[in-house]
Amino acid sequence: MHVFGHPVDVDGLLGIVHDFGVPMVEDAAESLGSFYQGVHTGTFGLLGTLSFNGNKTITTGGGGAILTNDAQLARAAKHLTTTAKVAHRWEYRHDQIGFNYRLPNLNAALGCAQLEQLPDCWPRSAAFTSATRRRLPRCPEYGWSLNPQLAAATIGFKRCLLDHALAGERDEVLALSNDAGFMTRPIWVLNHRLPAFRDSPRMPLPVAESLEQRVVNVPSSAQLAMEPVQ
Ligand SMILES: *Cc1c(COP(=O)(O)O)cnc(C)c1O
Repeated sequence: MHVFGHPVDVDGLLGIVHDFGVPMVEDAAESLGSFYQGVHTGTFGLLGTLSFNGNKTITTGGGGAILTNDAQLARAAKHLTTTAKVAHRWEYRHDQIGFNYRLPNLNAALGCAQLEQLPDCWPRSAAFTSATRRRLPRCPEYGWSLNPQLAAATIGFKRCLLDHALAGERDEVLALSNDAGFMTRPIWVLNHRLPAFRDSPRMPLPVAESLEQRVVNVPSSAQLAMEPVQ
């Protein structure tokens, strides 16, 4: 999963899946417009998925897309996501357990229009990110910085990482910045802290737990004004 538009270590993962002989499926829901070594995220694995939900780079209101170069898999996915109905002149027969996951045509039309906006959206978003990066270090009272490892071509990026020393003060940073009119957000509550998964088996999760304490997302929409509104 290319979280917040930040590509994962694709080469590392490809090495592991190759060693174990398992197919790689990429969750690129947040990384439309992000490239790893010049190649778009979601196109390295056997399958990749995009989301067009309302909070993503482009939206169709809901739904998404599957990316694959495997024609047989593409046909199978289309069949399963459209109720597995066998084509016939009049008969309603389903040959597998199928799902009604189709993107309705009206939503798809919205998506086509949104796709045309993408070329404008990318540079605007990248410019906003670098403007944010320039502005944030001037807020020393927040004690934060944008992640310097950001690949220049990554646009979905909006993650700030608090210094380790500030790990306990994330909620104060969120309160202060929201009070000041910046719509900052934390990372998700980790699954193993949710009631449904509390008793599930797990390994020690020190990295995830540290990030949960320290990630603060800043707004990154291409629609945002470049300078704060006075
Ligand atoms: C939004 C999102 C999803 C879910 O996408 P939907 O279109 O809402 O089903 C899955 N994975 C990631 C990483 C996401 O950001």
